[in-house]
Amino acid sequence: MYGTNGTIANALTIDLEDWPQSVVSPRLPITDCVIRNTDRMLALLDEFGLRATFFALGKVCEKFPQLLSTIASAGHEVASHGYGHELLYRITPDRFRWDLKRSIDIIESQIGRRPIGYRAPGFSVTQDTLWAGPIMARLGVRYSSSIFPIAGRRYGIPEARRFPHRWDTCNLIEFPMTTVRRLGRNLPVSGGGYFRLLPGPILSAAIREVNRQGQPAVVYLHPYELAVNELAMLKHRGWHFGWRTYLTQSLFRGRMLGRLSRLFQSFRFAPMADVLGLSTPDLVRASGCEEEDSASPARHPAAHSGRSLPVAATA
Ligand SMILES: [Zn+2]
Repeated sequence: MYGTNGTIANALTIDLEDWPQSVVSPRLPITDCVIRNTDRMLALLDEFGLRATFFALGKVCEKFPQLLSTIASAGHEVASHGYGHELLYRITPDRFRWDLKRSIDIIESQIGRRPIGYRAPGFSVTQDTLWAGPIMARLGVRYSSSIFPIAGRRYGIPEARRFPHRWDTCNLIEFPMTTVRRLGRNLPVSGGGYFRLLPGPILSAAIREVNRQGQPAVVYLHPYELAVNELAMLKHRGWHFGWRTYLTQSLFRGRMLGRLSRLFQSFRFAPMADVLGLSTPDLVRASGCEEEDSASPARHPAAHSGRSLPVAATA
């Protein structure tokens, strides 16, 4: 078993999605690249004896129904990334309810369990979309990992709390993306493009810093980041992307495998539900907001510490 350094387990999370549909446009079809990329990711996790949370996109599961059972049977947690990868600030609350419920129903039909976690596409729970929390809770979601506590161009709530905490407006735990605090500002380091583009040791140093504060960090990845030549291959197939998209999305993908291997040997990782101390019953009823579980996430010290999310109070 690798990754036994340190005593705090950090959340290892994978957004199960296909690059063109999730990054270029939600109207694009899901390609079969997602199957190969997910197989690569599963093989890597298996090599290091790691279990993770897969935030699965409903459209991907619908197109390739065998994926989720493969992931679940390898011992990973399956959570929801919504159905169509539509950003919350571009849709109505009704549309969001539909999108989330559809994804939950698809996951349940494929693995026989309802997911208890959700991550908004593009971290699109912002100050303007805090209405999403109560909707998640009513659909049985018990934790969200959707808020980036930074001042981002397209996402982020800069004043949001940096560590796991309860929402004020509903029975929901938030596990925000990991940041480091420098000169009074939160800086993003959690994974994805930041992990690829920033100098190697930054994410490790950030996780160490967060763990020293007694808090778990979260790392997020995408299966397509392991596909070094995917964009060149898609271009060859006739897909068109702007040069900026091509450059920023493909740059340094070749670094990922080595970086991840070093990361996986340096820290403890676990699925997000385990890190939060949430039970994962075989079936979680859709009425999750109406009942308190005695094994509730509030038992996790991080979920107890300090006040609830101040920004959520204004929703
Ligand atoms: Zn996504």
